[in-house]
Amino acid sequence: MLNIALFGPPGAGKGTQSKLLMEKYNLVYISTGDILRSEIKAGTDIGNKAKTIIEKGGLVDDEMIVTIIERTIRNNDDAAGFLFDGFPRTLVQAYILEGLLLKLNTSLNCMVALDVPNDMLKERLLKRADLEDRKDDTEVVINFRLKEYENKTAPVANFYKEKNVFHAINGIGELDDIFKHLTNAIESSLEKVWQNVVLFGPPGAGKGTQGQLLAEKLNMVYISTGAMLRQELKHKTEIGMKAAPYMEKGTIVPDEIAIQLIEKKINESHDANGFIFKGFPRTIVQAYILDGLLRKLNTGVTAVLDIKVPTLESIKRLSQRSKTDMARSYDLATDLIVARLEEFETKTLPVVEYYQKQKKYITVDGMGTEEQILNRLSETVENAFKHVW
Ligand code: AMP
Repeated sequence: MLNIALFGPPGAGKGTQSKLLMEKYNLVYISTGDILRSEIKAGTDIGNKAKTIIEKGGLVDDEMIVTIIERTIRNNDDAAGFLFDGFPRTLVQAYILEGLLLKLNTSLNCMVALDVPNDMLKERLLKRADLEDRKDDTEVVINFRLKEYENKTAPVANFYKEKNVFHAINGIGELDDIFKHLTNAIESSLEKVWQNVVLFGPPGAGKGTQGQLLAEKLNMVYISTGAMLRQELKHKTEIGMKAAPYMEKGTIVPDEIAIQLIEKKINESHDANGFIFKGFPRTIVQAYILDGLLRKLNTGVTAVLDIKVPTLESIKRLSQRSKTDMARSYDLATDLIVARLEEFETKTLPVVEYYQKQKKYITVDGMGTEEQILNRLSETVENAFKHVW
């Protein structure tokens, strides 16, 4: 299904553009405002309840909105998709829409917003008052509706920005030009499917080196929870201080710390093609967490690459690193190296099974020169991506 929401203040031109969009993409149009107006005309219960609120420019309650949307969805069970206009209008309604679409096993693909400055909105709405007989297009009500928009509706944009499906478009200009910009935004949003890779392998497998090279090569963002934690530690931040005792022992830090760091990084990286996770997930719980984090972005794990290196080789590499300035505190003693390898075996290997079941797990030989391994990894990732596309 293709589901789009058209967003913007009253008078932005949502109704006009909607007609064009629904035709182009063969969508069922759901304008909560239009539906409510026809309920009022028909004198139904909902209409009678909504009438005074609409005439004052306030928002009608969510229960009514859910009732009319559910009904429209039910009456169009063969729809190729929906075009929402005037909904979601509050953060609560954004969650409601998530739930409604989840029930249909789908989600909102794109929210396109029409930007128009307030003075022009007022001008347009007052003009509309002469053409259509809308009781809410008087100056006093218009001002109130714009205030309601600013206070309650505008924050909805952030909800979809975080999901990376929000696009704002200049709503001033020729109708055809605006339409072209809208369809460009919709189509670029559909093309933009994030691909995400998890790099796996025992300590010393080369995940850090290869992860960064791979990210550069494929224009992805490298997310290493360990590297981020070391930065926090170095700058003695609150997170760093909380994580310090765990890191010094070479054990896994509490999950909420890792989540905080990953979310921050994801939110800074909306232009990326996707993410390469290194050192996360390390446990089954973290595998569920990663699914949850990515689901929030309408995406998921595409492939898990396990860099295979014999145990003796990893010990050798960790011991070599301990002699360089890249040495980590836990590289310095044999018992710590052994403890980390053991922790990897007991806690991390079950994660392999998790991804094997989902057919996302691929092993890659981690022996050879840096370049050989990089080529092997990037080929594997590109193949996995093709598989998805
Ligand atoms: P519209 O046609 O979208 O400008 O909506 C006209 C009026 O209908 C609004 O000012 C609200 O009173 C009411 N309305 C429309 N959609 C909603 C919604 N999603 N939630 C609450 N009230 C709505």
